[in-house]
Amino acid sequence: MAQTVYVLGAGASHGDTLRISDEKKWKKACKKDRNTEVDHTIATNPPLITSFFDANYLWWTYPERIEKLFPEMINYIRRRWGIKGVFGTGDWLHVNLEDIFTSAAIDVEFNPPGTNAHAESQLLLNQIKRHVSFILGRCTIYRYGKYSRALVNALDESDTIINFNYDLLIDQEVISRTGIYQYHNFANVVLDKPFQNTVQFRALRDKHTGSGLYLKMHGSLNWTTCTNNSCPRSTSIEIGDVLESLLSRNSPTGRPPRCETCRSEVSTVLIPPLLNKPVMHSSIFRNIWSNALYALSQAKKIIIIGYSFPPTDFYTEWLFRSARINADTQVQVVNPLNNPSHPNQREQERFNRMMPSLFPHGYDAQLTAFNQMQFNS
Ligand SMILES: [Zn+2]
Repeated sequence: MAQTVYVLGAGASHGDTLRISDEKKWKKACKKDRNTEVDHTIATNPPLITSFFDANYLWWTYPERIEKLFPEMINYIRRRWGIKGVFGTGDWLHVNLEDIFTSAAIDVEFNPPGTNAHAESQLLLNQIKRHVSFILGRCTIYRYGKYSRALVNALDESDTIINFNYDLLIDQEVISRTGIYQYHNFANVVLDKPFQNTVQFRALRDKHTGSGLYLKMHGSLNWTTCTNNSCPRSTSIEIGDVLESLLSRNSPTGRPPRCETCRSEVSTVLIPPLLNKPVMHSSIFRNIWSNALYALSQAKKIIIIGYSFPPTDFYTEWLFRSARINADTQVQVVNPLNNPSHPNQREQERFNRMMPSLFPHGYDAQLTAFNQMQFNS
């Protein structure tokens, strides 16, 4: 039986307390673009969904550089959303990544394969993914989340993490720490292959019988798949080492490695949150989502950190409603919108209407931020 199910949204990474794990390497990695020393005080956490085009999150580079690197992406946003002015400022502070990502993914679906329009939309989608990877890579490389680490340290073998984020703050804790079982169990149950076939892992597997899983609902920066449809690796995902994945995405021109079977390009597996076609069509994502559904239905306790159930995310809403969460399951919601004097009153009213309908047996709404939580390890 699943004990505690943690559900993490963008607010968890955004609201964590990030610490530098290797000062020298961190400075070196940040120095690449500006060629000047980067100050701790300007380093940001991973952005929320509306800040991926905000110059404040480009502290390690120049906004003009992003315009040069990803011109199709920038022009697409200017043209389709009527965004004017200097990139990274003004209207750009309100551009929602979900809208852009979803629209580009619809273009790919809509334009028939083999046409120029299809190739162009594919290129655009890749630029968006590279921009996302680049920003998240830079915000997290050689850093760790104090609360992400505490959460992982407190895991029981039957606890499950349902993570809606692409970044690797939790992954680096779950994968690199010896004795943490959830990622290995995910590889065994969902991918049907061991994540690592080492002595330590086999010992870990023999020791644990719990049902705990680590489920990344929209893909992950360290997952790649082959882009060649006739290659057997195009229907599976490869899990990359966390630091290597961050390093390769730390450079805007750096691409993930080539496919080991056919040598075609591989692409990072990131699913636009609003368009979950891959969830229904890829057996891996279908398994991830059905395991999440089962874990929620069996949970003794559900803790939702930094996920606000945006009205457009029908799939996640469906997941929680379909799980038929038991009346005696404790639910805790950690979210800034729990604060009655939240500056965005309209959003808060929406949240306050939505949550009791998702959790009719009630929930604990005392905490507003990840860094108010206390974990016992
Ligand atoms: Zn291949």
